Amino acid sequence: MQYDVIVIGSGPGGYVAAIRCAQLGLKTAMIEKYATFGGTCLNVGCIPSKALLDSSEHYHNATHTFAEHGIDVKEVKVNLPQMIKRKKEVVEQTTGGITFLMKKNKVDTFEGLGSFKDKNTIKIALTKGGEQEITGKNVIIATGSKPTELPFLKPDGKRIITSTEALNLTEVPKHMILIGGGVIGLELGSIYARLGSQVTVLEFMDGIIPTMDKTLGKELQKSLSKLGMKFLLSHKVTGATLKGKKVTVTADSPKGEKVVLEGDYCLVAVGRTAYSQGLGLENIGITVEERGKKIPVNEHLETSVKGIYAIGDVIKGAMLAHKAEEEGTFVAEAIAGQKPHINYNLIPGVVYTWPEVASVGYTEEQLKEKGTKYKTGIFPFKASGRARASMDTDGLVKVLADTTTDEILGVHMIGPRCADMIAEAVVAMEFRASAEDIGRISHAHPTFTEAFKEAALAATDNRAIHI
Ligand code: FAD
Ligand code: NAD
Repeated sequence: MQYDVIVIGSGPGGYVAAIRCAQLGLKTAMIEKYATFGGTCLNVGCIPSKALLDSSEHYHNATHTFAEHGIDVKEVKVNLPQMIKRKKEVVEQTTGGITFLMKKNKVDTFEGLGSFKDKNTIKIALTKGGEQEITGKNVIIATGSKPTELPFLKPDGKRIITSTEALNLTEVPKHMILIGGGVIGLELGSIYARLGSQVTVLEFMDGIIPTMDKTLGKELQKSLSKLGMKFLLSHKVTGATLKGKKVTVTADSPKGEKVVLEGDYCLVAVGRTAYSQGLGLENIGITVEERGKKIPVNEHLETSVKGIYAIGDVIKGAMLAHKAEEEGTFVAEAIAGQKPHINYNLIPGVVYTWPEVASVGYTEEQLKEKGTKYKTGIFPFKASGRARASMDTDGLVKVLADTTTDEILGVHMIGPRCADMIAEAVVAMEFRASAEDIGRISHAHPTFTEAFKEAALAATDNRAIHI
């Protein structure tokens, strides 16, 4: 079988690339080694984690805020099997949607492990048994990533777990020891903290979500501490042992003292590693980076071999579903002879805790390092009428704008529904808006988005109205 494009991997990078190729009239095939499409994101990542985040937030509100709203409920209980069942249904509906889209767009799909026989021939070890070969003028590698393992701490999948198992627990942990205060750790940790687990975070750096603007990490730590989560920062984990149901984790404190923690579950969330093995890259002369196993690509996302492209988590850059999607579209359009573009600086980052954290553009730390002169406008949610109405007053919006031109250079938010609110900042920055532009645009009242307008006014000329 001869194709214009073969896509290996069906995650948000792969399936979007396949659909865009088909839309552009290219004969397209997609290979996936698992039984369902959608990759990490739909099966064991974005979608199931958000389903459990929503369920656990309902429980938390029922037990913590309903009474103040004037709603008395008795005997609110967690039904974890039902919560996990609903999550599974959401995943099934979503992955089923991709199967439908493949048929609708006439993309041929193959279930099995794809690997390069040569530059144009992909060998598929079919799940149902046997082997099949297909050929393609172009190949897009979209094989994603898997959880990074610490050399001295191997997950057993039952008590010492990764995010995949954390999405399928059969009981609420009594004490979850969480290694890594990044996005996965805090999202999954907050699910179980809301359901009643004691959660202790061991983080190597001196702040949580350390790659985001520092203000966000500090604010988030305050909010999650109110939820009961404990944070041991600047701690170096040295090992973990499992005896029966007891996990013991050891770490070195910043003062060099030995810290010993005992719990019933340990979630290891220290990043993800590119999944580039098993592809037969050696058969076509592609060498992966030693650290992180990423596949090197040029500015067109083409590997060292002409006609072979790579996208998403398996290459450099943020490991985000929407970044992978943009790259899928980019490569499809490049193959079709178009001249696409991605503005990597304006790919937003979101953490779906409550309050939500969202960010786009430069952080204050990056602007300082670049020597850019900038001004700052901050608006706290406690000054927002909408936030008071919904009892969501934690957090703030911070706008960073160029001192000379007033162009918005970065927007960093923590608060209610920031995951959705950040889209306005992305649009504004794509159109190179100034802070004053945002301050002069009408925002519906009362909405959380007024906080962005107010922060922009604060950055413009210290002109915020409500602080
Ligand atoms: P993947 O989604 O990893 O897909 C790769 C696919 O390729 C897999 O299905 C794999 O089975 C298949 N494959 C690999 N090798 C082969 C082969 N040789 N042959 C055939 N098939 C193969 N990102 C966000 O933007 N927002 C979020 O809210 C978010 N939440 C997350 C929560 C968790 C718990 C996790 C783990 C991740 C989350 N992410 C989130 C990250 C997001 O899931 C990834 O960035 C995204 O899935 C990357 O897409 P991808 O297409 O590059 O790879
Ligand atoms: P991460 O890089 O976000 O966080 C890992 C954290 O672990 C870092 O803070 C790091 O300093 C810490 N760490 C590393 N080694 C350690 C050690 N030995 N001891 C203690 N701490 C250690 O990685 P993650 O949370 O595993 O997430 C992986 C990827 O998945 C991320 O790139 C993220 O973008 C993506 N993801 C995104 C979302 C989202 O967009 N909402 C959600 C989940 C995952």
